[in-house]
Amino acid sequence: MSSKMSAACIFCKIIKGEIPCFKLFESDKTLAFLDINPLSKGHALVIPKYHGEKLTDIPDDQLSEVLPIVKKLAAATGANDWNLLQNNGKLAHQEVGHVHFHMIPKPNDKEGLGIGWPMQ
Ligand code: AMP
Repeated sequence: MSSKMSAACIFCKIIKGEIPCFKLFESDKTLAFLDINPLSKGHALVIPKYHGEKLTDIPDDQLSEVLPIVKKLAAATGANDWNLLQNNGKLAHQEVGHVHFHMIPKPNDKEGLGIGWPMQ
């Protein structure tokens, strides 16, 4: 289990189960769940459990699963096109101060999305 947590952080509360989420993947150091205010169907967030505000605050070993999970989530949506987005700091429009990666499907049809949840 990743040790660094913040009592005030909303994503740490999700990790601890104090706030519910639609969970897509979980391991000792990584959690993926649906964004509560999705920009498209299947909009997912992938986070290291280790608490840090910016990507530069997170040790490399706590990030090792993130991109493989993003790839699996993107494939599970069935979307051909999608964005991977990661904001750092207020000027970059970061709202939640716990590192997170947005995987945002860009559907060209409605049938291709939602299939595959939850991810195996
Ligand atoms: P950012 O602007 O990169 O910090 O994005 C923060 C994202 O977290 C937004 O897309 C929010 O919709 C999302 N978010 C905030 N609270 C929750 C929550 N409780 N469960 C799921 N997603 C959340």
